[in-house]
Amino acid sequence: MRRTLTGGNWKMNGTPGGADAYLGEIAGLLPSGPGPEVVLFPPFTLLPVMAGAARKAGIMLGGQDLFWEEGGAFTGEISPGMLVDAGCTWFLAGHSERRHVMGEDDATVRRKLEAGTASGLRGILCVGELLEERETGRTEETVRRQVEAGILGLDAGPGNLAVAYEPVWAIGTGLTATPEEAQRVHALIRGWIGEARGAGFAEALRIIYGGSVKPANAGEIMKGPDVDGTLVGGASLSAKDFALIVAASDG
Ligand code: PEP
Repeated sequence: MRRTLTGGNWKMNGTPGGADAYLGEIAGLLPSGPGPEVVLFPPFTLLPVMAGAARKAGIMLGGQDLFWEEGGAFTGEISPGMLVDAGCTWFLAGHSERRHVMGEDDATVRRKLEAGTASGLRGILCVGELLEERETGRTEETVRRQVEAGILGLDAGPGNLAVAYEPVWAIGTGLTATPEEAQRVHALIRGWIGEARGAGFAEALRIIYGGSVKPANAGEIMKGPDVDGTLVGGASLSAKDFALIVAASDG
């Protein structure tokens, strides 16, 4: 039985005061007990500000990105060790905005996954097809390539990794894959990972869905047996909405 995982990606949003208020509000709204695992990805500057209150609320923190070197002349970058020092236990690799706005390719994403997991952080590999790839029947080819480039031979166990299937056309657009479409791609991903890493690894690995997840659609999306949680962008900026999505994952 896989424990559900809900991630909230704040992207380039948030202030110290707002983060404080958010954690104060969400602490009383999350289901009590072990329940789903919950991780927030705020901007780097908010990580140390949020670490104490997040821990008390039972929320983990993660970096939206990282660089593979531990230190040196890499202007603008952040290292895995710096994320650990700031209170992180997770990181994102290959989010669609990193791939398609900042131009990261599969090899870059792979180096980030290797460095982050080697530092003891747990990584979420984000994958997903562009609208044009979907419309030309290349969803499977794209997602398979991204999954295999990230995970084949990676020295990390299934507990230290998750895959987020996030169709790019669904991110921030209000469009979502239907629950059937999401389940179909998740099952394919689990199958490819099973071929590459063995059935036990694939069965233990969490595969979560992202792309305009809201309180109103989270329950339906979570019905797929291979959908183990969600990665939420816009709706995670509201403590109330994010808590409702976490609760939907719990049901
Ligand atoms: C995301 O940024 O990973 C995401 C899924 O965003 P949104 O929920 O806003 O579509």
